Amino acid sequence: MHQYVSSSRGLELQLDEAVSFASQNHVRYLAELKELLAIQSISTLTEHKPDMVRAAEWLSRHMSGIGLNHVEIIPTQGHPVSYGEWLQAANKPTVLIYGHYDVQPVDPISEWTSPPFDPVVRGDNIFARGASDMKGNAIAVLKSLEACMKAGQLPVNVKVLFEGEEEIGSPHRLSRSHSARSRFSGSKAELSLSRLW
Ligand SMILES: [Zn+2]
Repeated sequence: MHQYVSSSRGLELQLDEAVSFASQNHVRYLAELKELLAIQSISTLTEHKPDMVRAAEWLSRHMSGIGLNHVEIIPTQGHPVSYGEWLQAANKPTVLIYGHYDVQPVDPISEWTSPPFDPVVRGDNIFARGASDMKGNAIAVLKSLEACMKAGQLPVNVKVLFEGEEEIGSPHRLSRSHSARSRFSGSKAELSLSRLW
């Protein structure tokens, strides 16, 4: 018995197919999470500026790959914003999904059991800098979108945004950037991927 979520054009999203796609692709999903975790996107250290760009580019490539549209890297006064959207659910609400790709510095390095940018799975957990705040959350939502889009059409529109300055507490740079801010007009709901701001 299929579980359906109706969509505007009749291409119903089949949730059980989405769930089975996700479990069949678990190994790839985990490998992709590890790729993102291995990027040393420490926003507070200028020597990691190229890593910030790499992380933003990785996310953009990924968003294009799963089928989001109008994917772009939006420059700001600081680190870039990675953005993608899917707006083909006519007359449906738009959900804004916000996350960040920057991480905190790793000091003191001596207290790490395994190297912070060499992700390791121990039991049911993965250990790396940024795994819980918040690259794991970012990948969880992107892979959920991927699975749902493979199993039909999303029942709502989505605008997905990852910034690179959350850990230095300067989202004002984004809010001052008109080109970025204009992407969010009309969003009906906002979903933040982490409570660990
Ligand atoms: Zn955070």
